[in-house]
Amino acid sequence: MNLIKIGKFIQEKRKEKSLTQEALAERLYVTDRAVSKWERGLSLPDADKMLDLCDILGINVNELLLGEKIGMEDNNKKTEELILELAKQEEKNNKKIFTNMWVILITTFIFYISIIILAAYSLGEGPIFGTIVCISTVILVIVAFYALKLEVDTGYYECSKCHHKHVPKYFVAMITPHVHTTRYLKCPECHKWSWSKKVLK
Ligand SMILES: [Zn+2]
Repeated sequence: MNLIKIGKFIQEKRKEKSLTQEALAERLYVTDRAVSKWERGLSLPDADKMLDLCDILGINVNELLLGEKIGMEDNNKKTEELILELAKQEEKNNKKIFTNMWVILITTFIFYISIIILAAYSLGEGPIFGTIVCISTVILVIVAFYALKLEVDTGYYECSKCHHKHVPKYFVAMITPHVHTTRYLKCPECHKWSWSKKVLK
């Protein structure tokens, strides 16, 4: 997606409708700074604003995301291309979240072990050592929960029986056994328990 091209297109269509940035912003309940950012290619309108924006500018969402007017016959083909591109983008973002999650988790764990070894070595057993262990454990648990939340929120789990993709509840994800990112889950579609693989799109 070419944000600069999209921005120029938004600006062109806005001017055709004789709207100022302020007037357009007001109709979309956004700030004029947001409109200015779209037009300079610094950001895309949020998905929930896109339809209204297209409505005001007299274009469709395909045209908005391509940054140009397209004929009716091209429309369906372009839709497919855009959906594929958005899916790819989603997969890329999800992979990034996943990598970050593992880095955070492993770093925290190493940190946790180091603090305990260091504290045990320098303080010996006693109330201060106990406090340090407690606090570090609480932090480790919080980070682990956060990582679990990220993992459950990112992508889907695919049922190995019927290949239905679903997102389990946190509580379910927390208590079911898992190996790496493959979890033993009940499929809401076929109601069978199976080892469900994580898929990112
Ligand atoms: Zn299933």
